[in-house]
Amino acid sequence: MLRVGLTGGIGSGKSTVARRLVEHGAVLVDSDALAREVVAAGSEGLAEIVGTFGPELVGPDGELDRPRMASVVFGDPAARDRLNAIVHPRVRRRSDELIATAPDDAIVVQDIPLLVEGRMSPAFPLVVVVHADAEERVRRLVGSRGMPEDDARARLAAQADDADRRAAADVILDNSGTPAELEAAVDELWARRLVPFEENLRLRRTVRSGSPRLVDPDPEWPAQAARLAARIALVAGDRGLGVEHVGSTAVPGLPAKDVIDLQLAVRSLDDADALAGALGEAGFPARPDIDRDRPKPVDPDPEHWAKRFHGGADPGRLVHLHIREAGSAGWRYALLLRDWLRADAGACAEYLAMKRRAERECADDPDPERYAEMKEPWFDAALPRAERWAESSGWRPPLA
Ligand code: ADP
Repeated sequence: MLRVGLTGGIGSGKSTVARRLVEHGAVLVDSDALAREVVAAGSEGLAEIVGTFGPELVGPDGELDRPRMASVVFGDPAARDRLNAIVHPRVRRRSDELIATAPDDAIVVQDIPLLVEGRMSPAFPLVVVVHADAEERVRRLVGSRGMPEDDARARLAAQADDADRRAAADVILDNSGTPAELEAAVDELWARRLVPFEENLRLRRTVRSGSPRLVDPDPEWPAQAARLAARIALVAGDRGLGVEHVGSTAVPGLPAKDVIDLQLAVRSLDDADALAGALGEAGFPARPDIDRDRPKPVDPDPEHWAKRFHGGADPGRLVHLHIREAGSAGWRYALLLRDWLRADAGACAEYLAMKRRAERECADDPDPERYAEMKEPWFDAALPRAERWAESSGWRPPLA
């Protein structure tokens, strides 16, 4: 099963996307519909609203008087919080019930208008945002839905801005064009990403990188890493001591293999083992075949380089997750090298030249291990330089 969080500003085209995904076979959990259901006439939710806000909130037909409810909470954050405390837990419970009855191989799409505002995005293995410019959205709301223009503008203004939504998005579906163009984009997303992602998750299969290919640095890498790190930190809970973006994509300006390397620090690898199943469900299945880094000459004890390794299941994003004990040699080394390369442009250029040589030599070699091995001697020689830099700059690893 894959759970996808779907969101977008009002009028962006969320419902249109949700409909198309359902045509492909997605199971839709529509939080707006559930929010109406849990306070429907005769419901226990409506009884609680009456208990909190008074019987005048119910119309003669026994239904919640929505315009009246809206006027009660408008401009009164405390009242809004009380209403949300009644509605939100019930919506969550109903969502969980619906998800529990979905088939094992379902792609569940949760349409949540306020997913970003509610900071819920880390709870989803994938977040899809539908985007259209604010002016275009107003035109559509007024044109096709017949909403008064002032009303449409006021609703837009009450929501997260586009930058916040973009930051939460693994996938942005641009709905600036025609409905047919949007549908084509949804069809491609379904076939190329959601279906294989679901299958990888169900089979706890990771996406592997083939022969190494260096690409120009992508300015989106840090934001992608931040999204992945938030997911991992949520799963890790108290067992996690912090998630850091490490490896080449964490060094600004450095061409690299398009892989986001992340390091989760834990107190002991027992904690890592306890997290393995939940990380797999969240999109990061374990790769037990890789259980340590190669010991470096500075510390040849293999035990000090033990780790747990997980990959990513999303075919749209290669991820390597290294789980290491805070304070261990391997943990410190990943952070030191990153920070040294960030600080020393000359070392960075040298490292890049060596990577280019390894890339050329491994161009036809699908085994990613060989490329990694070719880089090891350079690292072995570089480590004492990085240590000297640490000493002279007073560098300390984060968390230490
Ligand atoms: P949301 O669910 O995000 O509020 P909808 O999917 O209901 O948005 O779309 C808002 C309105 O705009 C609907 O009336 C819809 O039919 C219309 N619409 C959606 N996409 C387009 C498009 N690409 N071109 C024109 N109208 C569109």
